[in-house]
Amino acid sequence: MPSGPRIALYPGSFDGLTYGHLDLIQRGCKLFDQLIIGVANNSRKTAWFTREERVALVRECTVDLPNVQAEVLDGLTVDVAAKLGAQFIVRGLRAVSDFEFEFQMSIMNRRLNPSVETIFLAPATEYVFLSSSMVKEVWSLGGDVSPFVPPSVVRAFEARKATS
Ligand code: ADP
Repeated sequence: MPSGPRIALYPGSFDGLTYGHLDLIQRGCKLFDQLIIGVANNSRKTAWFTREERVALVRECTVDLPNVQAEVLDGLTVDVAAKLGAQFIVRGLRAVSDFEFEFQMSIMNRRLNPSVETIFLAPATEYVFLSSSMVKEVWSLGGDVSPFVPPSVVRAFEARKATS
């Protein structure tokens, strides 16, 4: 393992940053010198917010974490990790549902670049079933999402409703 700062890339869509994402970010920023949140477009999901809006929200919710930054992520995650000098990729594992996909992706990423190691983190138990898509569904149906997402994300949901 090379000496120098330990940098990790935490990629994801973050389309409605949840307290589950933040739980992982708080764990990750203690493990690494620098944690870079890479906001990507996921071809399997339709986003509510542009990547720039999502980056801005992540930045707003992590201002008190000095070694965390957020950037737009374009292209292959391992290529971006290499370009940023990140030796690690952080991903979260919730209930069993995440396991197969995350495992496959980590093995593929290792084939693509064996020098980047994927680290899986588990959230606090209260966030184990929390997902952005579930929160958006609850919000769409008029439910209170304030226990699940930071206030700035609630405001972004409200602003989106006002313009749609
Ligand atoms: P993606 O579209 O790449 O899955 P997400 O924003 O949904 O992007 O998730 C990004 C990462 O954060 C994934 O590794 C996911 O498992 C993890 N994650 C999301 N929500 C939680 C949560 N509540 N607890 C732990 N990890 C989570």
